[in-house]
Amino acid sequence: SFDYRSEASNPEKEYDKVLRPKLLNDFAGQPQVVENLEIFVQAAVQRNEPLDHVLLHGPPGLGKTTLANIIANELNVGFKVTSGPVLDKPGDLAGLLTNLSKGDVLFIDEIHRLSPVVEEYLYSAMEDYCIDILIDSGANARTVQISLNPFTLIGATTRSGLLTAPLRARFGINSRLEYYNVETLASIIERSAELLDIPIQDEAAYEISRRSRGTPRIANSILRRVRDFAQVKGDGTITLAITQHALDALNVDKYGLDEMDNRILKAIIDKFKGGPVGLTTIATAIGENAGTLEEVYEPFLIQEGFLMRTPRGRKATEKAFKHLGFELGWQQGG
Ligand code: ADP
Repeated sequence: SFDYRSEASNPEKEYDKVLRPKLLNDFAGQPQVVENLEIFVQAAVQRNEPLDHVLLHGPPGLGKTTLANIIANELNVGFKVTSGPVLDKPGDLAGLLTNLSKGDVLFIDEIHRLSPVVEEYLYSAMEDYCIDILIDSGANARTVQISLNPFTLIGATTRSGLLTAPLRARFGINSRLEYYNVETLASIIERSAELLDIPIQDEAAYEISRRSRGTPRIANSILRRVRDFAQVKGDGTITLAITQHALDALNVDKYGLDEMDNRILKAIIDKFKGGPVGLTTIATAIGENAGTLEEVYEPFLIQEGFLMRTPRGRKATEKAFKHLGFELGWQQGG
């Protein structure tokens, strides 16, 4: 009942199940993260001990849930899923924890959204594999300490900045996922196409990749839509021409930027002459949280050369001005 992902079964989820890599070997990119996990997993297996608790952080759709699944597979242990906002009371967590078998993985998505009482309850579970449980009620109410089977907690978050220091300190392994480069993302698209039995040209895979915001989840969902165009407008093969037609029809940005990305750039250019302008000022202008701006949106814009961090604030680059169709030059000196 805690598995909120298995609630409804729609085509998107089925598709997702087929495409999700099951082993570290099938997981493309993130070489540093994968290499380290390989070693930690192997060491834990050799010692016949549970793996240390793992914190996975990074923007949405980059493979945190996928990696958590893979870790459980590689450890050959059970996998339980929940998420920060779902765990209302310590009792919800206690129910999950007491049902874990030795070495199992408990995955908590959006772990930055745990309520403080639930988070605190997690501390002793993570540290000593034990929890306090309240039994009886009224005058007979008392707490007893019960021990848990040793387990591995894997927490995922898009907002590691919101994690409290005590929680962060309880993770022995801490990995950050980065946006994927075009080559890696193209290889993921080709793998997905093969699994779905869709013929695709190399250049088409690259075109989808360039327009997927460095994000496998977006790449897979664009592939799904482009396949429809190839089927109806072509002979089923995903060619470059069909892909370009489809991406334009779907209004996919040339650089894969999403609506919020473009809003950020436009605000910096329109309202602040291209910057430099402080992060919180931008956040206020677009009505988004400064932390989300910094941890979710900005890294991609910086990586792709649309945004610069300067000592005096954020600055839109020439590429950003060009992309949004502004004349260059008029903003100089601002
Ligand atoms: P997150 O939990 O970070 O939001 P997910 O793990 O749900 O992201 O990944 C989104 C989708 O992208 C998954 O369904 C998976 O199929 C695909 N995916 C993510 N990372 C990879 C990867 N490295 N290789 C292949 N597919 C990936």
